[in-house]
Amino acid sequence: MQTDIALFTQLCDTILKEELQEPVAKPIPASKLYDTLDLSLQSEAIIDEQLKSILITLIKSTPKTASKSFFNQLFGGRIGKATLGELLAVMFNNSMYTYKVAGPQVGIEKQVLKNICKLAGYPDNSEGTLAPGGSMSNMMALIMARDYKNKSARTEGLSKPMTLYTSKESHYSIAKNAALTGIGRNQVRLVNTNNKGEMLAEHLNELITEDIKNNLEPFFVNATAGTTVLGAFDDIEAISKVCKTHQLWLHVDGAYCGSVIFSKSYKHLIKGIEHSDSFSVNAHKMLGTPLSCSIIITKHKEQLYNSFSNDAEYLYQTDEDDFNPGKTSLQCGRRNDALKLWTLWKSVGTNGLEKIVNKQFEMAQIARDYINNHKDYTLYSFDNSISVCFNYKNVSANTLCTALYKNSELMVGFGKFNNNEFVRMVTINSLLEKEDIFHFFDTLEASAEKIC
Ligand SMILES: *Cc1c(COP(=O)(O)O)cnc(C)c1O
Repeated sequence: MQTDIALFTQLCDTILKEELQEPVAKPIPASKLYDTLDLSLQSEAIIDEQLKSILITLIKSTPKTASKSFFNQLFGGRIGKATLGELLAVMFNNSMYTYKVAGPQVGIEKQVLKNICKLAGYPDNSEGTLAPGGSMSNMMALIMARDYKNKSARTEGLSKPMTLYTSKESHYSIAKNAALTGIGRNQVRLVNTNNKGEMLAEHLNELITEDIKNNLEPFFVNATAGTTVLGAFDDIEAISKVCKTHQLWLHVDGAYCGSVIFSKSYKHLIKGIEHSDSFSVNAHKMLGTPLSCSIIITKHKEQLYNSFSNDAEYLYQTDEDDFNPGKTSLQCGRRNDALKLWTLWKSVGTNGLEKIVNKQFEMAQIARDYINNHKDYTLYSFDNSISVCFNYKNVSANTLCTALYKNSELMVGFGKFNNNEFVRMVTINSLLEKEDIFHFFDTLEASAEKIC
């Protein structure tokens, strides 16, 4: 083991150097992958030196998501104290189902959840868990809502169609989860948005009223804190009023930007969060922990147990339910995803988490200012968003993003809203500085000139 750790440390140094020297790894076309790299598995063992040299080749060609040229997705960068927690979790290798097997790690998870419940303004007896990602957190919310409305759904299945509501701009996992949970994709109602991509509460109300008239059973509304393309925040307060009128479960999908809950300056974007029934947030997005770290909390502790507990004599042999988190989780064996958030939170404090969040909004504002000050750009996104959406001259976003990737210049993607396709630059890496933003635009412009 000691030699493996030593090798690991050496490889980490290589990764950190590579990230600086070659921030965008030269992409290997998927069709040529097996011809370019030797990924074969053979019957005989190889010596460590050989393994090392193969791993170094792999490091060189693996995309660098922590580099300052990565603006491609809703995660990026690397925060040391969170990575430390993740590496420790790997070494501990506990499974987060019982106190017997995970010990104080259970307390760490509970502490993280408790503090997030408090920030959300949920009552003291609220509860939560960590799911294997935001999509699965959304699924847990959907299942709780289904069972809350329909007490026999767990045992008998559905007897009549149940309908759910989410905006056109929400994450695809909502429809996918409807399919997975027996609700059915056709029971998903897509609510219209305004020109900023925010759900229209009036349209939501119309759709619900219509379904009730048709003898269907509405049960769940999903509001989004940070939509996937524009980074828009639905008006939770307005939506919660509609939910209250019709007695529907309100879930807030904060996978992308729910971390504004840690910031006094930006928490107003999720105003009314205390009225929701459940709330999820991915710490591996805005807080910059390694993948994955997805938290789901709910006010309805009993529903979390009712929907997810199963007796298992071979597993639960000691301690109370409260310290056996396997009673409220989606899976059985479960990674310790809480520790990386705890080590980060413990080391920088809530004020430090706030700085991480605020920094991303500052960088996005710098990017928007740049765009607004340069006439060759058109801006499509809005204030208070860390997704900066734009076009440059008349260059197609798709062509530009692909050229930047193929030439190992920048990793950035494109998106679409209201029939406009545009570059979507995500300033989610809190280690970025002003110079990195300007470097992004310089690089993009130089690349565009070659295409024009
Ligand atoms: C990223 C994202 C998800 C999915 O989270 P995963 O961890 O990738 O499964 C869900 N909803 C929104 C709004 C997201 O941005």
